[in-house]
Amino acid sequence: MSEHVHVRVNQGLAVSEDGNLIEEYRCGCGATWTRVHRADEGHPEP
Ligand SMILES: [Zn+2]
Repeated sequence: MSEHVHVRVNQGLAVSEDGNLIEEYRCGCGATWTRVHRADEGHPEP
């Protein structure tokens, strides 16, 4: 197993068709993440 520790670099923000705020992150190894902030609930998904 690799001991690589992902570094989540913020790639920017986007707004989905539903009006949710989507944060995009990317590590130098190619891994990506997204975090969705729901406009109608006020808290992010776990
Ligand atoms: Zn990584």
